[in-house]
Amino acid sequence: MEFKSFLIKYAEIGTKGKNRYVFEDILCSNIRHVLRPIDGRFSVRKEYGRIFVDCHEEYDYDELVEALQRVFGIVGICPVLVVPDQPWDSLSKVIVDFVDECYEDKNFTFKSHCRRINKNYPMHSNDVNMECGAVLLTAFPELRVDVHHPDVMIHIELREQIYIYSVTIPGPGGLPVGTNGTAMLLLSGGIDSPVAGYMISKRGVHLEAVYFDAPPHTSLQAKQKVIDLAKQVAKYSGAITLHIVHFTEIQEEIYHRCPEDEITIIMRRYMMRIAQKLAAMDHCQALITGESIGQVASQTIYSLQVTNAVCTYPVFRPCIGMDKQEIVSVAEKIKTYETSILPYEDCCTVFVAKHPVTKPKLEDIEQSETLLADVIDAMVDRAIETREVMKVR
Ligand code: ATP
Ligand code: MG
Repeated sequence: MEFKSFLIKYAEIGTKGKNRYVFEDILCSNIRHVLRPIDGRFSVRKEYGRIFVDCHEEYDYDELVEALQRVFGIVGICPVLVVPDQPWDSLSKVIVDFVDECYEDKNFTFKSHCRRINKNYPMHSNDVNMECGAVLLTAFPELRVDVHHPDVMIHIELREQIYIYSVTIPGPGGLPVGTNGTAMLLLSGGIDSPVAGYMISKRGVHLEAVYFDAPPHTSLQAKQKVIDLAKQVAKYSGAITLHIVHFTEIQEEIYHRCPEDEITIIMRRYMMRIAQKLAAMDHCQALITGESIGQVASQTIYSLQVTNAVCTYPVFRPCIGMDKQEIVSVAEKIKTYETSILPYEDCCTVFVAKHPVTKPKLEDIEQSETLLADVIDAMVDRAIETREVMKVR
């Protein structure tokens, strides 16, 4: 069957009381946003707790579904047959044809589920369900009814028009991006930070990102890799403002002046400080990192405490309790993995201590940072002033 409309189901946003309308409008606009690059001819409309996407003649089904599966807030995508309001005599024939066209093999169990939103429809929903069962069993004797665990649920929604569907393709869930503020993602070229950005964006948070670049120690390819990762995350989160901060000068200074085993942790504290300044400038409410407890020396719980000490903003670390393999699974699902494993050095791998501290003490680190006192503020300001800013979509 060629479907001309899709019913979009959303769950959590239905619970937001009066804000519900705001949430629905943002979801509609996000759906339009992902469909626009495919084709300008889809129409997205809202009707009584439902969103519908109406299609034109020659749209590509798979392409449309793939795009909708990237819109947070959608829990189900139902290809739906829309027919005019009509009496049961003719509607029952439409339902029989629908089942016939959708299911070549009729060896399955079913149940009919009617919602009667149009209270003027002359039959009650229970009667529609009973009649529907009867006409289908007559038309296709191989079918069987199972009211508890049917293989196929045939939904009939009686509205101004009548909607018939039986398939619900899962959506990504979450909340529509734009309903929960903005956060600044520290995006490196690794596996974890794109996953972290994806996970927070899924909760409705709009993303900005910052990458600390260290030319000439890091290559142009390393930078391009981060831009490509941002592009892939943006397929879900919507456009990302990416700040590329030139970190070389700061990193070299830390490397030359501070104790070797502390350079990573000090470097990470300056990354957080700069990210937080950018977050304040751009009205973000939080920072996001891809840190996971114990993954490397700079992510022991002690290191995290020392890194976190420079932050007054909430720092979201959605990978914190995940094993590497779990993070990899998400990276594969969102298609950032292949890019993340490209072998370009990033600034953390270039300036790396042979034996980094795993239990840094805050007082020691603060003491070591005083060795930078005469230059660091100006360097931080310069790093912020000279950053490149690009909109990645
Ligand atoms: P990832 O796989 O996300 O790169 P990682 O395992 O390489 O993480 P670290 O290098 O210790 O771990 O970095 C921890 C977190 O710090 C990253 O997830 C990221 O959020 C941030 N980060 C590290 N390096 C950079 C960088 N060059 N630019 C921006 N953020 C960075
Ligand atoms: Mg990294």
